[in-house]
Amino acid sequence: MALHVHPTIASLKPYSPGKPLAELERELGIREAIKLASNENPWGPSPKALQVLEHAAASLHRYPDGGAHDLRKALASKWQVSHDEVIVGNGSDELISLLIKTFLSPGEEAVMADLTFVMYRLSVLASHGVPIEVPLKNWTHDLPAMMDAITDRTRLFFICNPNNPTGTMLSATEIESVLAHIPEHVVVVFDEAYYEYVRDAGYPDSLRYVREGRPVVVLRTFSKIYGLAGLRVGYGITTSEIAGYVNRVRPPFNVNSLAQEAARAALLDSEHVAKSRAMNEAEMTFLDEGLTKMGFKTIPSQANFLYFDVGMDGRRLFDALLQQGVIVRHIRGSMIRVTIGQPTENRRFFEALEHVLPTLTKSA
Ligand SMILES: *Cc1c(COP(=O)(O)O)cnc(C)c1O
Repeated sequence: MALHVHPTIASLKPYSPGKPLAELERELGIREAIKLASNENPWGPSPKALQVLEHAAASLHRYPDGGAHDLRKALASKWQVSHDEVIVGNGSDELISLLIKTFLSPGEEAVMADLTFVMYRLSVLASHGVPIEVPLKNWTHDLPAMMDAITDRTRLFFICNPNNPTGTMLSATEIESVLAHIPEHVVVVFDEAYYEYVRDAGYPDSLRYVREGRPVVVLRTFSKIYGLAGLRVGYGITTSEIAGYVNRVRPPFNVNSLAQEAARAALLDSEHVAKSRAMNEAEMTFLDEGLTKMGFKTIPSQANFLYFDVGMDGRRLFDALLQQGVIVRHIRGSMIRVTIGQPTENRRFFEALEHVLPTLTKSA
């Protein structure tokens, strides 16, 4: 019997997570491959999170707390909101798809940038919605153009801040100049996966928009600075009304018990966050200066990765680096994204670059 798959689903390209380190090492027959491709914390998980895992593992025969009560309470207290204004997900990825499931019916629209986190587009298409992709301007969300793209059918408005993959940021001033003009039938999603890395003082306090009662969702994650990407836990702060709707479609045990416990511990590990942030800042400067010296154009970043123009087919540079055991991310055209690694990893990255560049420029 033939399968019936909707053409929209059949036409989707599976998310490509990049090659796992172990696989690359096997292929190349080397040991010290490095992965600077997924914006993970190179310093590893919060040690406090690791400490609670063994104790939590003793209860693995039990289902998790389906309401994630303790974790939501901890988040509510940290951010000075009520626990019914906190939603948790299997990564913020899941919250993105739950928001789409909650608010977007087939044929309805979600406005987003044309070069931003790919999960918005993928999840919208998977829900038979219509992604309205507005070109970036100067590598940043073009808010006025995104406003112009709103119609009666718009349900969601995605602002990735800082934006992945460009690392650029929208300021409070820029956001506040449009926020009041967004119609009330549109839910604004601020994806702040890199919140803890931002250094620019003009960064918006988006939780204020939630406290003002606007239809806004602020998404954050334990996958980046907290170093818990493998456990899958993200959260959203929003109005209790929006949280209530999302909870109607949320699977009951979407965040596993180890993730709940580890996230709660990581939240209190301000030392791990501060160290990761400081190291990121120092190494960002090192990478930025190094790349600039080599003649590449970098885009100023507020996150834990750098987006840069290699002035040639980025795919070729990506492949050449891969052969040296260095995994970065080729985004499109001549653009590459590299995650800020540990100092030794970043130096490896430069050695590999210097090794492959002459071969590439010769044959270009
Ligand atoms: C990494 C990332 C996420 C989330 O990840 P989860 O691991 O699913 O929490 C969300 N948004 C952006 C922009 C990201 O870069």
